[in-house]
Amino acid sequence: MTLQAPDFYFPAPRTQKFCSQCGTLLSRHIPPDDNRLRDVCNSCGAVHYQNPRNVVGVLPIWEDKILLCRRAIEPRYDKWTLPAGFMELGETTAQGAMRETQEEAGAQIELGRLYTVIDVPHAEQVHFFYLAKVLSDELYPGPESLDAAFFKAEDIPWSELAFRTVVTTLEHYLADLETGVFPIHHYDIPLPPPK
Ligand code: ZN
Repeated sequence: MTLQAPDFYFPAPRTQKFCSQCGTLLSRHIPPDDNRLRDVCNSCGAVHYQNPRNVVGVLPIWEDKILLCRRAIEPRYDKWTLPAGFMELGETTAQGAMRETQEEAGAQIELGRLYTVIDVPHAEQVHFFYLAKVLSDELYPGPESLDAAFFKAEDIPWSELAFRTVVTTLEHYLADLETGVFPIHHYDIPLPPPK
């Protein structure tokens, strides 16, 4: 894989104001022997490193249909998505993907294998989607979803999908259906063009 210049930009850390160790106002600078801006506490010396977050989700299949959820929360309120969300402390990516499916769709699933791993550097995230078999067509969408429903390939609401990682995961799946081979797909979502 070749990396081009935009992949190496160093975004500013997410804003945080006070030291979580001692409550002092933080100062933002590049510490000695480092090469990135950090939030540093000049009182207790803590350096508040920030790292990408993991988003874990599922591509749930029921017969020839795909389960999608309509978001009841921002961002992308009212848009359709695969069940997915931020990984919680203490769980594995697979456990997180199953939890999100339960929370957002109330679907009974049998988790399959990892299918897409997507780097989204400008959003400071890595997304993981597992294949899954839905075991019953009964859905109980939770408070984070306005709705949950099954879609045949030709009925997928492409212009109403919430995230590019959802779009590309579905595109890979439909292409792989043609060949019957479902390899793991690892790729980047490039930076959006400048506004
Ligand atoms: Zn401190």
